Amino acid sequence: MGTLLSVSELKKTYEVRKTVFSIKKDIIRAVDGVSFALEKGKTLGIVGESGSGKSTLVRCILLLERPDSGKIMFNNTNLLEASHAVVKDLRRDMQIIFQDPYSSLNPRKRVFDTLAEPLLFHEIVEKKDLAGKVMEILHNVGLDEDFLKKYPHEMSGGQRQRVAIGRALATGPQLIVADEPISSLDVSIQAQIINLFLDIREGLGISMLFVSHDLNIVRFVSDDIIVMYQGKVVEMGARDEVFFSPLHPYTKMLINAAKGQYNQSEGNGMLDTFNGCPYYPKCDKREPACEHSVPVLTGPENHKAACF
Ligand code: ATP
Ligand code: MG
Repeated sequence: MGTLLSVSELKKTYEVRKTVFSIKKDIIRAVDGVSFALEKGKTLGIVGESGSGKSTLVRCILLLERPDSGKIMFNNTNLLEASHAVVKDLRRDMQIIFQDPYSSLNPRKRVFDTLAEPLLFHEIVEKKDLAGKVMEILHNVGLDEDFLKKYPHEMSGGQRQRVAIGRALATGPQLIVADEPISSLDVSIQAQIINLFLDIREGLGISMLFVSHDLNIVRFVSDDIIVMYQGKVVEMGARDEVFFSPLHPYTKMLINAAKGQYNQSEGNGMLDTFNGCPYYPKCDKREPACEHSVPVLTGPENHKAACF
């Protein structure tokens, strides 16, 4: 099939004030040397607790944020060196779905206009074919024509997310990035939207980056999984390898949390001053070496972990 996206040594730091009043700034390593590849038609799940850098990573890949360093190859184009014109063309190939469809949809636009806009902007259909194409998209996301005239506030959360997914599909993208796409929805609706993602993957063969803090959800939709902790990938591999034979203590903790045995804590991007394993402070298997050097990802292609 071939590789659609490959990310190498991506880094992004933020400067934040220690307190509201202080002049001193801390440097937070939000994404700290992340590398992975995504094959065409595959879904890569990105899992990790709050603050582990998942959104920053995908925002950098979509060029919504400028990384400090690293390389992003999309279909043989080096995104960080591409011209504006090339990036504009690529925008139709890479689409994002956010957590909260209520804030990502324009409250003053009816569904028809929301779906028509990307089709017109990217000159995907002629005017005469517009209505037909909008209907086709609507059907693909499981809504009927009654929705064409609705505004976001007239729909349920699940219906709004369907419209947001439809808008993302409108341009015929090769990559969909879904950042916590079901977290804001009622539990009863979540399964329906997950099924819609599975249908899209099967039916349209689109590659996906699927971000969630919940390993149970990531596991359901992904072919491969990367586990992030404090900006770093601590484990990556084939879905079942990671889920059934986890190697890293953090992944094991996440799996137990997914089974409801532990509460997940929140993280905060790693400070630039600490040079050990990011999981050192919380790890129940830590050794002295872990405090002073960062384990690198090692292992066979289908399962790597960064742990001594
Ligand atoms: P969540 O699950 O809560 O969405 P996340 O894994 O998506 O978390 P990010 O939003 O990528 O995490 O944040 C990673 C780290 O970078 C956090 O410590 C966060 O506070 C910090 N960060 C993110 N965006 C900014 C910003 N614009 N300015 C300063 N710090 C930021
Ligand atoms: Mg996020």
